[in-house]
Amino acid sequence: MDEWQQNRLAEVVLGDIQFDCPMGQYTTLRAGGRAEAVCFPCRLEMLQQIVSFLGMEKIPYMAVGRGSNLLIRESGFKGVIIILKGELATIEREGMNLFSGAGLSIPELISYCSANGLTGLEFLAGIPGSVGGAAAMNAGAFDKDAGSMISHLFLITGTGEQLRLDQSELKFQYRSMSVPEGAVIFKVCFELDEITPEAVRTRATVYLKKRRQTQPLEYPNAGSVFKNPLNDFAGRLIEEAGLKGERVGGAMISQRHGNFIVNAGGASANDILELMELAADRVEALTGIRLEPEIKIV
Ligand SMILES: Cc1cc2nc3c(=O)[nH]c(=O)nc-3n(C[C@H](O)[C@H](O)[C@H](O)COP(=O)(O)OP(=O)(O)OC[C@H]3O[C@@H](n4cnc5c(N)ncnc54)[C@H](O)[C@@H]3O)c2cc1C
Repeated sequence: MDEWQQNRLAEVVLGDIQFDCPMGQYTTLRAGGRAEAVCFPCRLEMLQQIVSFLGMEKIPYMAVGRGSNLLIRESGFKGVIIILKGELATIEREGMNLFSGAGLSIPELISYCSANGLTGLEFLAGIPGSVGGAAAMNAGAFDKDAGSMISHLFLITGTGEQLRLDQSELKFQYRSMSVPEGAVIFKVCFELDEITPEAVRTRATVYLKKRRQTQPLEYPNAGSVFKNPLNDFAGRLIEEAGLKGERVGGAMISQRHGNFIVNAGGASANDILELMELAADRVEALTGIRLEPEIKIV
């Protein structure tokens, strides 16, 4: 970006922008290269202006939620990261429809549901992402996924237009869904049921407990690193290959969960990528199955 482009962008977001920004601070792995800029739109018009400006100027951009499924390579991202906040991270209820800003965190969403006795999303408890990230990744756990609870969502297309897409148009698949190229989701509608707040809290707590038993939450990580192959579990294959505890630099395959790579201290993006490659190679040599990354590598 040239100076004029930087200034224009800063103007649109009222100065809420950081240039040459180390992305480790915006990812749960606490590792990764730099982004040319990270901006924080807090209103829909701001987001629209940013996306159309970046599109017109042919500057690459991507939406980031909580960076809990994301690794930015050491070489960095030559473009603009967009993180939604303010009005784009709020929640509204209309009957059994819950409209959540894409920038809201899943923990905030679950607390709202617990406080208001809205059931259906408890299985997401403990996933540290944003609502936008959960929709984009079709986040799932315990045989359920976010996509099945979304009735429709709203996004800004690459040209800055607003678009509503219904569930049937979103084509949710395992850890993915289809949105138009360059789209930024800004609002998601979940269709929920009502029970008592206590019952929602109890269900969420059960899921949280199950997670705590199996996941290495004491270290920075990005959840499952590889997708599960058909009818099997990446974690099981990695464990069978004897890789638990394997390290490259500060990156380590968790002793507790084979499909988690943790930042055991000072890991670089290269350490993590090298360890992923090593794990995929060893599992392939042993089983013939090539594990595919679940985390987004940018
Ligand atoms: C401890 C831990 C446990 C986890 N457990 C699970 C689990 O059980 N199940 C599971 O599925 N995942 C799990 N994850 C992974 C991750 O939390 C989810 O994939 C989550 O939904 C990602 O949300 P995010 O906001 O962090 O997305 P990010 O990591 O910020 O982004 C992920 C992708 O989504 C896109 N994206 C984000 N926001 C938007 C938006 N507004 N519009 C368009 N695209 C967007 C990004 O461009 C990127 O491609 C876990 C992660 C951790 C650290």
